[in-house]
Amino acid sequence: AKKSGRNQYRFFSAEMAEAVKRDFVIQGELRSALGSGQFELFFQPQFDLEAHRLSGCEALVRWRLPDGSLRFPDKFIGVAERSGLIIPLGNELLLSACMTVKRWLDEYGGAVRVGVNVSALQFEQPDFIDTVLNALVQSGIPPQFLQIELTESTVMHDAETSLARFEALKEMGVQVAIDDFGTGYSSLAYLKRFVCQHLKIDRSFVRDITHDAGDRHIVKAMIDLAHNFGLTTVAEGVETAEQQDMLLALGCNETQGYYYSKPIPESEFVQRFLLSGLT
Ligand code: C2E
Ligand code: CA
Ligand code: CA
Ligand code: CA
Repeated sequence: AKKSGRNQYRFFSAEMAEAVKRDFVIQGELRSALGSGQFELFFQPQFDLEAHRLSGCEALVRWRLPDGSLRFPDKFIGVAERSGLIIPLGNELLLSACMTVKRWLDEYGGAVRVGVNVSALQFEQPDFIDTVLNALVQSGIPPQFLQIELTESTVMHDAETSLARFEALKEMGVQVAIDDFGTGYSSLAYLKRFVCQHLKIDRSFVRDITHDAGDRHIVKAMIDLAHNFGLTTVAEGVETAEQQDMLLALGCNETQGYYYSKPIPESEFVQRFLLSGLT
């Protein structure tokens, strides 16, 4: 037992060393890729459930490597957060999302709300509000097309500071969504005080909604709570027509998921969803 214990220890330390090395390599690659145009935003449509209309989209980063292959966020967002590189990366993506909206307005005469994911470290920078303002000014877009997505844990990490930032964003006309709702530890008292517009129900609650009465009750409670606070609800990870119909019956406002589309490159999003969604 002693021997296997030691082996196990050695196994874990070798594995940890491997992970540290991998982190280090990706960190170096990240650093040199910043500002090089290797980070692309893909777009996933969101729909108004009642009106059956495109209501917005979420921008999700993809790393286009020099060999043309794509690297997904689970491979590098964690590294970017641990190394602090999420700040320049996140700021680059925020501006890029705003510039995309600007192009839509110029080329197609319309746009939809774009949700941009913002990490805790980025949100907590003292100049975060200035960064958002700068992206709006530089792109020249009306602020209501920008939606900042913050996870529950980001918001609750320093709730008092978050409250002030939420107020500032609201004053600027930028929308805020609380992401992955239900997975964190939001105090309901705070939810009442946060001036945000949207609540995104985490896909872990949506997954079993058609056959798990418990999950169905939880989702119903979240929707009712959100509506009591004047927020719209967006269900994430909708993969089937049955889930969609159940969410509509529960009063959910908007929907997003593979059932409609995976996140896709901008040009494809424009052709498949934006152009028909604008008319
Ligand atoms: P998230 O913000 O919760 O984004 C939703 C994730 O769920 C996306 O994964 C999306 O592709 C995936 N998804 C959408 N519909 C479905 C569905 O029907 N079924 C399933 N199984 N998955 C679905 P993705 O693009 O790999 O992003 C993963 C996470 O990485 C995001 O979770 C977000 O936390 C982070 N992330 C992505 N882009 C950015 C970014 O630009 N900045 C920051 N800070 N984080 C980002
Ligand atoms: Ca999100
Ligand atoms: Ca989410
Ligand atoms: Ca998530």
